[in-house]
Amino acid sequence: MTANLLDFDLEGLAAFCEELGEKRFRATQLYRWIHQRGVRDFDAMSDLAKSLRQKLPDVAHIASLPVLSRQNASDGTIKWLFDVGSGDAVEAVYIPESDRGTLCISSQAGCAVGCRFCSTGHQGFSRNLTTAEIIGQLWFVEHTLRAERNTTDRVVTNVVMMGMGEPLQNYNALVPALRTMLHDNAYGLSRRRVTVSTSGVVPMIDRLGLDCPVALAVSLHAPNDALRSDLVPLNRKHPLAELLAACARYLPHAPRDFLTFEYCMLKGVNDQPSHARELITLVTSFNGGQGLHCKFNLIPFNPFPDSGLTCSDKATVQAFADLLSQAGIVTTVRKTRGDDIDAACGQLAGEVLDRTNAAKRMATLRQGTGTVHTIQVTAASAANVR
Ligand code: SAH
Ligand code: SF4
Repeated sequence: MTANLLDFDLEGLAAFCEELGEKRFRATQLYRWIHQRGVRDFDAMSDLAKSLRQKLPDVAHIASLPVLSRQNASDGTIKWLFDVGSGDAVEAVYIPESDRGTLCISSQAGCAVGCRFCSTGHQGFSRNLTTAEIIGQLWFVEHTLRAERNTTDRVVTNVVMMGMGEPLQNYNALVPALRTMLHDNAYGLSRRRVTVSTSGVVPMIDRLGLDCPVALAVSLHAPNDALRSDLVPLNRKHPLAELLAACARYLPHAPRDFLTFEYCMLKGVNDQPSHARELITLVTSFNGGQGLHCKFNLIPFNPFPDSGLTCSDKATVQAFADLLSQAGIVTTVRKTRGDDIDAACGQLAGEVLDRTNAAKRMATLRQGTGTVHTIQVTAASAANVR
């Protein structure tokens, strides 16, 4: 097996070049060809030394995940389903808006956190994606859409790690992918346009602040430990006080002076005025009354079979948002996008399939007889992250 060059950030690529007996600056040239121009054929990399161009095909390749399907919504949202092997698939969703194009990316096949309201969590954990599989989603979408639109202009302006998986439980693969998103010789996205969403892996929030501080969105979903532990099992390990303290430690590193809390609105579970009041107290009384500089993004629950949960009605969501706003907390309610392709949800949802079923469905798809209606992504909450 040869090395997939999408697995490397610039440092990794430089080390790879050195192993081949090449100068480190060759890595910058390669990195540009791959990420800025989407080229995978070494022969086409005209400014690379001929000797290196000849060497590379024997030791390296450039490949993103195989595409199982693509769906285009009438509002311009596009959803791709990628094959990650063993009957598993992950999704990426592109959400165009007037002033930006947001790509929602997956970090794992399945997820081990097991949140009650999340269909990925209900599927269980299959495996971590590699760096190549994470950055490959951006590489593929950016260059596919540029080619289709016949442009060299940037198509993806924002990335949110809000697809399948808990990115901070796949930290070692995530960070090189983030570095490539940010690097001027690759995608050159600013730190505030790259968002990592987490259910609260406290030690990794601290590490991210040091290693690669990007915008942080924290999935809160409840104002107290009893309810949060029920909805987000990771809360038993890292309870709210610990999580909020980690958020406060992250803020000085964050590209903006606030962070985003995501809050999935679940009918009769976490959506009452008493919950909103408790939430206000939680964030405003933090650190002896200094408070935590944050913004809330309310995500209407996207239902899926066997969750036993339903979405709060519109008026309840609005009343909840009003209470937070009146307390001086900037609050947005997630817009829906890509409704006609099932992309308009808080997270991967829809049918929850076990892996055997997913494998069967993919086999059918490969024979060209099936349609994909398996998994859906976070399109709308992604678009709400500023
Ligand atoms: N694992 C990370 C990132 C992926 S989930 C995290 O939990 O933050 C992205 C967002 O979608 C999270 O805020 C998550 O809580 C939310 N979400 C998950 N399932 C949902 C559903 N069925 N409806 C609405 N939002 C959901
Ligand atoms: Fe995992 Fe996030 Fe889903 Fe929770 S909400 S199960 S952390 S993907």
